[in-house]
Amino acid sequence: MLKGKSAVVTGSTSGIGLGIARVLASKGANIMLNGFGDAAEIEKIRSGLESEFGVRAAYNAADISKPSSIKEMIDATVETFGSIDVLVSNAGIQYTAAIEDFPEDKWNAIIAINLSGVFWGMHYALPYMKKQGWGRLINIASAHGLVASPHKAAYVAAKHGVVGLTKVAALETAEIDITANAICPGWVLTPLVEKQIKDMAAKDGISEKDAELKLLSEKQPSKKFTTPEELGELAAFLCTDAAAQMTGVPLPMDGGWTAQ
Ligand code: NAD
Repeated sequence: MLKGKSAVVTGSTSGIGLGIARVLASKGANIMLNGFGDAAEIEKIRSGLESEFGVRAAYNAADISKPSSIKEMIDATVETFGSIDVLVSNAGIQYTAAIEDFPEDKWNAIIAINLSGVFWGMHYALPYMKKQGWGRLINIASAHGLVASPHKAAYVAAKHGVVGLTKVAALETAEIDITANAICPGWVLTPLVEKQIKDMAAKDGISEKDAELKLLSEKQPSKKFTTPEELGELAAFLCTDAAAQMTGVPLPMDGGWTAQ
């Protein structure tokens, strides 16, 4: 389905991004991996994609908080694979504190990575996609792109921003075979959420298993985590011709969280 196409997945050394990269590779896409982590581990992921799925995979260490690094990564993708057909803007971080206690550096980092990083990715990828006449922009927002929770001011602001930005991108590309959509996951058990579970277990004096259930029960009616594989399959669907008229949409995959 995606044979001969290439996808950049930001923040794909872990969690949701890695799950999406694996599904896109399973459909035949060449993959530009990105994100932080141990060099040997990243090389294992890269070579694993090539051997498991018979695609080409490369890695770029771009820091998504830096527009110039994003440009370099997009250009490197076109140099390596000949095109950039799919951009999954997924890199993201979290920090929780009440508004009056929110540190300036944490606010700036979350806005830079979770919001501005998505903008600059599209800014540098769109000229290539327009020239090719085909492209898929997939922005990983969150249930927090649609509803709020206390103590997540920067994250909720950034994710709502991503949903709005996605709509603008959809309008600006409406007459071309380029779509822009946002995926809005509920809780997914990744390192980003494992930290919140550990914090909750320590704060409430409960086991991590009980903290997991408490976290899910508070928000996600299914009481099950969304998985990176499920999110990957949704991203892959957005790359099909069947999804060509689906653009500017925030798509929850959240076990009913935002239906409440
Ligand atoms: P994760 O911590 O497992 O992965 C985050 C990835 O982003 C890693 O590969 C990390 O190296 C990379 N990254 C962080 N800062 C970066 C930077 N400056 N430059 C380049 N890469 C950077 O987290 P995750 O849960 O897989 O989150 C992925 C995305 O999904 C985020 O945008 C997050 O907000 C969103 N999301 C997560 C959940 C959840 O429950 N886990 C729910 C909704 C949305």
